Amino acid sequence: MATRNTGKATEIQNMLGAGIQLMTLADYPHIPDVVEDGATFEANAVKKAVEIAKVLKVPVLADDSGLEVDALGGRPGVHSARYGGADLPHADKVCLLLKELEGLSDERRSARFVCVMALAWPDGRVVTRRGSIEGRIASTPSGSNGFGYDPVFYVPEKNCTTAELPPTEKDAISHRGQALRAMLPLIQEIL
Ligand code: IMP
Repeated sequence: MATRNTGKATEIQNMLGAGIQLMTLADYPHIPDVVEDGATFEANAVKKAVEIAKVLKVPVLADDSGLEVDALGGRPGVHSARYGGADLPHADKVCLLLKELEGLSDERRSARFVCVMALAWPDGRVVTRRGSIEGRIASTPSGSNGFGYDPVFYVPEKNCTTAELPPTEKDAISHRGQALRAMLPLIQEIL
């Protein structure tokens, strides 16, 4: 999998189960990072999967995901990992987001997580699958599961944030879980 994000990799490994061992870019430290300069989740996911599949000469999965906040015109979107600066710790990214939304009512705090997965073969063939989950940005962080913006992503149906959900419950409804389940038949075909 073309990622160095341990939060994503852990979720995907847990969903795949112990029978499949996911290798990530942490296992290949010599491979340079792919520049994520696409305008869409699709473009970035495809770029990551295709470039790394060509280098490693094996099928490669990539996940490009992020948080779209309606009151911010869809920001941070594809820039979620770099919101406030690539080196800004996630806890500070969350603070920055809360500051931008300060004073907004619940109705105006609607947001969604989006995930596009791409599976690429070394010959350049590539397929994508998408998942998304609707919610809103809570006014204070709660919960310690997950990663990134999970402590402020409130899911009305669950009456809690995705950081308060046990990992299996997040996976069952999450953007990443949806995209992975849609991709599973193709992954199983390869295996
Ligand atoms: P990228 O796909 O490497 O560009 O980074 C995705 C970024 O979106 C992560 O670093 C998080 O900031 C955010 N993100 C994506 N999925 C999740 C999630 O499931 N929980 C919390 N934050 C997420």
